[in-house]
Amino acid sequence: MFKKILIANRGEIAVRIIRACRELGVRSVAVYSTADKTCLHAQIADESVCIGPPATKDSYLNMNAVIQAALNTGAEAIHPGFGFLSENAEFAQLCEKSGIVFIGPSYKSIEMLGDKAAAKETMAAAGVPVIPGSKGAVRSIADAKEVAEKCGYPILVKASAGGGGRGIRRVDSPEDLETQIIAAQQEAKNFFGDDTVYIEKFLVDPHHVEIQIMADTQGNYIYLGERDCSMQRRNQKVLEESPSPIVSAKLRERMGKAAVTAAKECGYYNAGTIEFLVDANRDFYFMEMNTRIQVEHPVTEAVTGFDLVKAQIEVAAGMPLHITQDDVKITGHAIECRINAENPSLNFRPSPGTINALYVPGGPGIRIDGAVYQGYTITPYYDSMISKLIVHGADRNEAIRKMRWALSEFIVDGVDTNIDFQLEIIKRPEFISGNYDNGFLTRYMEEKKK
Ligand code: ADP
Ligand code: ADP
Ligand code: MG
Repeated sequence: MFKKILIANRGEIAVRIIRACRELGVRSVAVYSTADKTCLHAQIADESVCIGPPATKDSYLNMNAVIQAALNTGAEAIHPGFGFLSENAEFAQLCEKSGIVFIGPSYKSIEMLGDKAAAKETMAAAGVPVIPGSKGAVRSIADAKEVAEKCGYPILVKASAGGGGRGIRRVDSPEDLETQIIAAQQEAKNFFGDDTVYIEKFLVDPHHVEIQIMADTQGNYIYLGERDCSMQRRNQKVLEESPSPIVSAKLRERMGKAAVTAAKECGYYNAGTIEFLVDANRDFYFMEMNTRIQVEHPVTEAVTGFDLVKAQIEVAAGMPLHITQDDVKITGHAIECRINAENPSLNFRPSPGTINALYVPGGPGIRIDGAVYQGYTITPYYDSMISKLIVHGADRNEAIRKMRWALSEFIVDGVDTNIDFQLEIIKRPEFISGNYDNGFLTRYMEEKKK
């Protein structure tokens, strides 16, 4: 096992990783920007290193500063968390060159899967069902027209390097195709520094269901059930649950096996997530693979009792998985609500400021993965997610009841949050029945406006 790990992230995920280090008896090194000196992760790690000014490109995305901090503190490995450098193949390779273990898959896997258009081709060749669309990237407008015609409108133009729900455009008719592709390429260039786009059939009101996999460097693979992430706003997840209310044991097994096939195809190791869309016929299609730990990993941990972050570190240290597929059992039901400092009635505008009072819920089956404390000042520089509330119940109804009362107890004073909005969602009959798709939240908010 490693003696010391550097965590190249901030906020709740950095705190989560520091806690895993403690359980494993590993020393932790936090990095922080000058805006984050008072952040929880910088306070509770065994050591903390300032790596630059607030702008992410100068601190959390500054590869050399992060590597230098690891070398200076004698950290043997770097955990990248999610976002920031976590899916950056160049960074993973730089770690290797510097003699530091990157806690994640090989840079080759990251490279292969980070190009979403190419990844779909790889999966299709391996026999994993993919969403119909262009074979790889769009090469010309004529080519795009043909593909779109074949798929049937509406279609989506997606940035091959995209992520975080950005770089996705819907095209409803052939007249708009050319202008939308050009705009999408421009946008992709600006956001991701890569103007490659691909076309996908727009599936009407599907469900987002993803499979968590874990693999060691000895070639053992397991899948740990699914997460339903259909509660989305602007293609971004708001609330997640496991198991999915629409997935049967049989479908779980089929999707799990497809996910393992997908991972094996890329020589994948460490934690990864294969995202699928599931349509009304309960047919599933590969969408993309995320080569990192995900925001919503705690719901999987709750129902499987498997600590994904500890396993990531163990696997990176060369240890084999300590369980096999037969040991994976799904117990009860878990739900996660993302708690953001934002104002839902002002179009979810971020709400930086000082937290004057904070009361977090507790009790059986309640987990908080947070990074804020009373007196902490949320700065405007980073993501607005300040905490995650995760509940685990014997069944879905119990989990919903727990979430309802936990949200009602949660007090954050001084900044606006989406707590009441989450409460509104979990009280909706569509959610309670489990019968909601990716389009639900958008339709619901449109209706509320009227
Ligand atoms: P998850 O699937 O784990 O929910 P998200 O897609 O919501 O992941 O992304 C996790 C975090 O990483 C979010 O804070 C998101 O804004 C950020 N993120 C993901 N991909 C990118 C990207 N390509 N560029 C910038 N930020 C990203
Ligand atoms: P990102 O890399 O930003 O996470 P994804 O490709 O995973 O992008 O798509 C994000 C979300 O956009 C999905 O969860 C889904 O809600 C929606 N989406 C993506 N592709 C399609 C599609 N072909 N049809 C319908 N919805 C889609
Ligand atoms: Mg995605």
